[in-house]
Amino acid sequence: MTDTADRTKTSGDVVAEVKDWLAENWDPDLTVAEWWERLGTSGWAVPTWPSDWFGKDLNRADGVRVQQAIAEHGALPAPGGLGLMLAGPTIAVHGNDEQKQRYLLDIVTGQKAWCQLFSEPSAGSDLAGLNTRAIKDGEEWIVNGQKVWTSGGHVADLAMLIARTDPDQPKHAGITYFVIDMHQPGVEVVPLREMTGRSLFNEVFLSDARVPDDSAIGGLNNGWRVANTTLMFERTSLGAGGGSAAASLASPGTVAGDLDRRAGDFIASGGRRGGGGGTLFGASAKGLIQLAKGNGAVANPSIRQKLMVLHTIGELARMNNLRAKAAMAAGKDIPGLPNISKLLMSNTVRLSRDLGLEIAGGYGMLHAYEPEDRKVLDDATGLPYLSGITEMALFAQGPPIYGGTDQVQRNIIGERVLGLPKEPGFDKNTPFKDLPKNG
Ligand SMILES: Cc1cc2nc3c(=O)[nH]c(=O)nc-3n(C[C@H](O)[C@H](O)[C@H](O)COP(=O)(O)OP(=O)(O)OC[C@H]3O[C@@H](n4cnc5c(N)ncnc54)[C@H](O)[C@@H]3O)c2cc1C
Repeated sequence: MTDTADRTKTSGDVVAEVKDWLAENWDPDLTVAEWWERLGTSGWAVPTWPSDWFGKDLNRADGVRVQQAIAEHGALPAPGGLGLMLAGPTIAVHGNDEQKQRYLLDIVTGQKAWCQLFSEPSAGSDLAGLNTRAIKDGEEWIVNGQKVWTSGGHVADLAMLIARTDPDQPKHAGITYFVIDMHQPGVEVVPLREMTGRSLFNEVFLSDARVPDDSAIGGLNNGWRVANTTLMFERTSLGAGGGSAAASLASPGTVAGDLDRRAGDFIASGGRRGGGGGTLFGASAKGLIQLAKGNGAVANPSIRQKLMVLHTIGELARMNNLRAKAAMAAGKDIPGLPNISKLLMSNTVRLSRDLGLEIAGGYGMLHAYEPEDRKVLDDATGLPYLSGITEMALFAQGPPIYGGTDQVQRNIIGERVLGLPKEPGFDKNTPFKDLPKNG
């Protein structure tokens, strides 16, 4: 979040400091809530944030070293999720001091979980076409509308909400970005079951839901700008593999039920309850090489060739991320890089899906829909991680869509980076209320 690194400290000093702190403070018998409280208030949960706001002013490279030191020590990592990945950084950029005080501490200590109420049934790629309406009522806003594909909505305490506050303005101009409390009668969360068997995302119905006026982030009718900050953090993070990197072993927030559990149990069990066999295998060549060696598929030259392609794309993605981090650390920006990183991630996921299924052969047609069946499947087929591979294969359609589809990333690169002509559109200056609507 900051590039104002403390230049007087070397990376070695930072690592030594966090190691000393861990030796004194990590205690597996603490509850998750107690441990995250210690970690968050010490500044080590998000050390790249400013020291005034629960960080340590470290540069990104040192931030990664701190994460590694925490993992090597065998301590529970910082809380993951959309609070830390999207809401916190956005509030740090656009929020006022009172809002930072109100929201950031609960994010770094994992006390509250967040979700992102952006997409609607008729506003995904065309996000600025959203219909959810917020109408002022004294010191509050009354919100009505429907959101969809809300990841983690069923376990969220708070949400980043974008709603239309002035339909007389053109569609990008009359939107405001709010923080909304998910625990209120006007918010109904309905889980959607995916083809993996999991319910990652939800529909969210807002019926006379209320948000206080002082929870508007970045000012009235300035929500498009604020939402774009969130989307920028999302693309950067997803392109860097942040979808999983941001996920801690335990879940933040009051609903998931992990806060009262013993922190050390998450380390010992490798995390999630439910006794899964293979974890989500991840889109890495390393894992698939291991699998292909295990069942002899590595002898197939075609599979070896594809593993090499996957490895090469992975290395390109890694180098792009290093470029992005170096540019950010120098206060610079490489236009289009987050979009290119996200496209690379989509390619990696698709290739991993195809290759994983090819290596698994006929067994790839079997899938464990319930978490408790995953280990059974792996054991029965003798293929460790098979359940992770089929889950990844079924989920592989998601990453090229969320955070902006591949086509949308290409549009952005074409129009904003390469300067190609913009898509024809009559809707840029027309008041939103006068635009034709579907249905
Ligand atoms: C796993 C997953 C998790 C998600 N989590 C969240 C979440 O937590 N919160 C949230 O708000 N949303 C979330 N989303 C929603 C996601 O952001 C949208 O699905 C995405 O923006 C696409 O919108 P859409 O589904 O309405 O598709 P549409 O916008 O209807 O697009 C349909 C197709 O048309 C193409 N298309 C659309 N416009 C253009 C154009 N101008 N040029 C070229 N092609 C175009 C698209 O690329 C796509 O192929 C999630 C989605 C997935 C899959």
